[in-house]
Amino acid sequence: MRLGYVGLRGHHLVCLQFFEGSGYSEEFVDNLRRVLDGFQHEGAVLEAGPDDVCARCHHLGAEGECTLEPGGEQSIRALDKLAVELLQVDTGQRVDYEQVRAQVARVLRQWRAQACDGCQWATQCEPAQRLMARDTRP
Ligand code: SF4
Repeated sequence: MRLGYVGLRGHHLVCLQFFEGSGYSEEFVDNLRRVLDGFQHEGAVLEAGPDDVCARCHHLGAEGECTLEPGGEQSIRALDKLAVELLQVDTGQRVDYEQVRAQVARVLRQWRAQACDGCQWATQCEPAQRLMARDTRP
């Protein structure tokens, strides 16, 4: 992790908004809390691939690829691409937590429709997503 800010890949900018303490392992969750804290207080920089969350994930392969499932790297990259498009951010860009959160709220319906189907964390994220949708209803 860099001094002062964290590196996050596209889909983590979105998914971290709904983190409720679940994760792949204790080490992973502890790290996620630290990364989220850094993101909330200092902002983050958009990474094109493995980031400071992946760094403590046992699904990260030796080549920096995601091994979560067969073809995992491809589907994770597609998820990152979708997030980057919906959030309108670019690789290397410094992003602010509150600005990202506001944009996530604007695109939440599209994100859920295109990204959450079949995700193992979808049920855990749902309450926080419902709250976000309620709080940003016009
Ligand atoms: S499952 Fe894949 S994308 Fe998610 S944190 Fe682990 S290595 Fe990174």
